[in-house]
Amino acid sequence: MPERPDLDYVVPRLREALAGAEIAGARARKPVVLRCAIDEVRGRIEGVSRRSAAVVFHCGARDLVVIPMLAGRFEIDGRDSADLAVAFTLADGRVLQYRDDVQMGKLWWTAPGAAIPGLGEGGIDVLGAAFAVEALSRLARGRREQVKVFLMDKTALDGMGNAYADEVLWAAKLHPKRTTARLSPAEIAALHAAIVEVVGGATATIAARRPALPEKLRDFLHVRGKKGDPCDRCGQAIRTVGIHGHDAYYCPACQPDAEGRGFVDWRRASK
Ligand SMILES: [Zn+2]
Repeated sequence: MPERPDLDYVVPRLREALAGAEIAGARARKPVVLRCAIDEVRGRIEGVSRRSAAVVFHCGARDLVVIPMLAGRFEIDGRDSADLAVAFTLADGRVLQYRDDVQMGKLWWTAPGAAIPGLGEGGIDVLGAAFAVEALSRLARGRREQVKVFLMDKTALDGMGNAYADEVLWAAKLHPKRTTARLSPAEIAALHAAIVEVVGGATATIAARRPALPEKLRDFLHVRGKKGDPCDRCGQAIRTVGIHGHDAYYCPACQPDAEGRGFVDWRRASK
């Protein structure tokens, strides 16, 4: 899915290419993604920005808000392929395509800043100056959910989705099912360092390699999508575990599932 490192690369490129262009018409090939009347989407694109996990095209009195979810991507003047969901015709003759082969993305045409259902936002910028260890510690306090779920909560952290949460937990050597509030101060510090390193590192890597707009660079990840492969750190086979409708990839050796002494002792005793 496009996550923050992907969007932080795509958004400035869309802004550069499209600022000042006029949306003259639109047609939907996969209307299931629409949360608006597509015929109403018209106007001059004054800017493009990221709003949490969404890409916002600012068109004066209205915003075109696109939440790409799992597989959405953008292309300008690409071919009319099977995953094309919506094509916006620009007055200058170009076509902005929104592609989505699983059709989970959503398009809204709203007043600027209007609440968007399902778009979690308001989380602290994990690459900003205010994101210190203490800030993460405060956010984690009292959070009873599993740490992977916490990392993906965009009302807490403006930073990552499914894939990068797995990478962060691998880097911090934390099992995805650990209870957030029970992490020790040392583990919170490790988690903080891992978030900055993984999200910041991915952003820099993607910027340096400059993939094509619709391409999602993921070949540098360590655990995500690597079930059965040897861990890059210890050689153990990567495993997956289900967490609240999501899957998590992790190394069972580097990321032990210790949740306090009792849990580990019970498992060992039962063998
Ligand atoms: Zn390992």
